Amino acid sequence: AKQEKRSAYRVFDADIAKEDAERKRTKNALIRVVENQGLDVFCQPILNLETHRVDHFEALVRWHQGEESYVPPSNFIPLAEEIGLIAKVGDFVLSEVLRSLATWPNDYRACVNVSVLQLGDGRFVERVLNGLKEAGISPHRLELELTESVLMSAGSAAHEDLRKLRDAGLNLALDDFGIGFSSFGYLQELPFNKLKIDRRFVSEVEKDEGSAAILRTIAALADNLDMKSTAEGVETAQQLSVVTACGCHYGQGYFIGQPIPLEDVQQAYFEIPKV
Ligand code: C2E
Ligand code: CA
Ligand code: CA
Ligand code: CA
Repeated sequence: AKQEKRSAYRVFDADIAKEDAERKRTKNALIRVVENQGLDVFCQPILNLETHRVDHFEALVRWHQGEESYVPPSNFIPLAEEIGLIAKVGDFVLSEVLRSLATWPNDYRACVNVSVLQLGDGRFVERVLNGLKEAGISPHRLELELTESVLMSAGSAAHEDLRKLRDAGLNLALDDFGIGFSSFGYLQELPFNKLKIDRRFVSEVEKDEGSAAILRTIAALADNLDMKSTAEGVETAQQLSVVTACGCHYGQGYFIGQPIPLEDVQQAYFEIPKV
C-alpha cells in the first residue's frame, strides 16, 4: 500500500508540473492577446418584457483561437484578474463599446461587465466619465454589471467609486443575483438599480415550482426597491413566458438572441430590412 501511495504522489506531482506549464502558456498567450488588442467584443440582446422590444445589449469579451474556437471568459477573466491584466481587458471592452454605442440610436443602452478589481482607485470612474463625455453619450445609456459575490469583499473605496458612477447617472446591475451571499441590508447600502437573476433559477423553472417562486420574489423585491430585474439564461419559449409571468422586467438568453459580434449589432438590430 505504501508503494501505491508513493506512485500516486508522483503522478500527482507530474500533474501539477503539467498544469503549471499549461498555465504558463495560457498566461503568456493572454498577455500577448491583450497587448495586441486581439480580443473581440460580442453583444447579446436583452428584451424589455414590458415593451417587447430589445432595448439593450450586454458586451461579452471573446478570445478567439481559431475560426470556430474560443477560450471562454470564465477561463481567462480570473487569470487576467490574478496577473493584473483585468484593467487592460476592461479598458479595451469599454472603449470598443463606447465607440459603438455612439453610433446606435439614442434609445438603446449597452451593458459592460466590470471586475471589482477595476474599482477603488478612482481611475476607472475617471475613464468611464471622460469616455462618455468625449463620445457624447448620455451616462444613462451605459450600464455596469458587477457580480455580487466579489463585491462583498470589496473595500469602501470600491463602494465609493460605485456611488460616484451612479451619481453621474450610470445604471448599475448586480450580476448573478440569488446564488451569492448578499443580504438585504447590502442591497440598501449599495447604489444598484438592477438585479440580474442567475440563470440557475430560469433553467429550473419548467420543472420546479420553487424556482418560479424565487423568480417572482426577486422580481417583487426589485419592484419594491425601485429597481429593475433581468432573468438570465432564457433558452425556451416556455421559460420566456414563465419569467414574463413572474414579473421580471427584462429577459436575456439564447431563445431571445445569441451573442453576436459588436460590429454586427447595427445591421442585425437597427437597420430596417430592405424588401
Ligand atoms: P455573465 O456576466 O453572467 O454573462 C452571461 C453569460 O451567459 C455569457 O457567457 C453568455 O454567453 C451566457 N449566456 C447567455 N445566454 C445564455 C443562455 O440562454 N444559456 C446559457 N447556458 N448561457 C447563456 P460568457 O460570454 O461565456 O461569459 C461568462 C462570464 O465571463 C460572464 O458571465 C462574465 O462574468 C464574464 N465576462 C464576460 N465578458 C467580460 C468582460 O468584458 N469583463 C469581465 N470582467 N467579465 C466578463
Ligand atoms: Ca475585433
Ligand atoms: Ca453580466
Ligand atoms: Ca450573470
